[in-house]
Amino acid sequence: MTDKEHLTGLNIEQIRRDFPVLKRTVGNDKPLVYLDNAATSQTPVQVIAEITRFYRDHNANIHRGVHTLSVESTDLYEGARNTIAEFLGAPSASECIFTRNTTESINLVASAWGKSNLQEGDEIVISEIEHHSNIVPWQIIRDELNVSLRFIPMLADGSLDVDAAAEIIGPRTKLVAITAMANSLGNITPLADIIEMAKKHDALVLVDGAQSAPHMQTDVAALGADFFACSAHKMLGPTGIGLLWAKAEVLDTMQPFMTGGDMISTVTMSQSTWAEIPAKFEAGTPNIEGAIAFGAACNYLDNIGMTSIRNHEKELTGLALDKLNSIEEITIFGPSDVEKRGGVISFALQGIHPHDIGQFLDSEGIAIRAGHHCAQPVMSALNVPATARASFYLYNTEAEIDHLTDTLNQVVKYFG
Ligand code: PLP
Repeated sequence: MTDKEHLTGLNIEQIRRDFPVLKRTVGNDKPLVYLDNAATSQTPVQVIAEITRFYRDHNANIHRGVHTLSVESTDLYEGARNTIAEFLGAPSASECIFTRNTTESINLVASAWGKSNLQEGDEIVISEIEHHSNIVPWQIIRDELNVSLRFIPMLADGSLDVDAAAEIIGPRTKLVAITAMANSLGNITPLADIIEMAKKHDALVLVDGAQSAPHMQTDVAALGADFFACSAHKMLGPTGIGLLWAKAEVLDTMQPFMTGGDMISTVTMSQSTWAEIPAKFEAGTPNIEGAIAFGAACNYLDNIGMTSIRNHEKELTGLALDKLNSIEEITIFGPSDVEKRGGVISFALQGIHPHDIGQFLDSEGIAIRAGHHCAQPVMSALNVPATARASFYLYNTEAEIDHLTDTLNQVVKYFG
């Protein structure tokens, strides 16, 4: 039975033909099995072609020139903004700010929103399952502005303690910054519950969508949050480009994050005024071809369909959980219900260091991540220094899960 027949919705063989890197060999001349998608996804030819086309046919700065190439570059860049806004369900493209990545998007909010809106005594709520990029910027702001930083704790299966959240989010909470899907264990956050709690207290909500935007339908307008951050490189796009969506009325309360060219309205030698959004938050020459390619990646995902991608990953994850659980020495972290997790499986093999697992798998062509996944508080809560993590995307197959399972059995024999 082929993967096309077995797994619902997607023609995997056809999809795989779009990703040149999946044809290469690695390790000991083994076909690449790429299972490190939570770190960075692979790039289809349709996206690569947009990068090449930009430099071949259009390359010029945006918003500056009256000459043909500059106008074309501007149209492509702003066209990409429209495409991404539509992909994310943003009511207006002007609410979509290009950044370098999710990290920069969150830093922008912490700095620009925090400094314009927080005062001593206010509280920011995050959770124990956040990526470091949704922890460290808030620690810095806590120390700079003398506000408090509170955590929603994690339960044993890695999910959020929603009952505790109801206690922690209160009248002093000004912002809840929360991941939609944890990168370390793959848990999907009960966002609707958390947003409802925040809104009861008129707090704003930032959603870290780095892991959800690539794998699930996003509709920022329906979500009811105020900020949403994501990175193109996790959603088939290039590195160095990401996005912050925020409600226009919130962006209007914020001072610029960075200053310089393209974000001003007027400049005199004594003072300056700011451009309208989104330019107000995009100082300097941006990653123009990155934004255009990000738009192409959203088009690619949209053509396949986010519901089909999510269904494929649920099916793959269910198969992987079944097969991996047949290994006696394995501990799999995170919830067992595929409805509650994305295509991320973090695991340990008794007595074997995750880096040894990663290296052995690499010698057989399998790319996984081994480490703390930029989520050291999660590792502390699990009382492990690191985990091995396999993460799936639309191009992964059941045969690859079988290869992973067989190779992990070899790892156990080799190190056992
Ligand atoms: N948030 C989550 C949940 C992530 O998984 C990641 C990256 O792994 C980030 C934030 C940071 O993304 P970036 O490195 O693209 O800024």
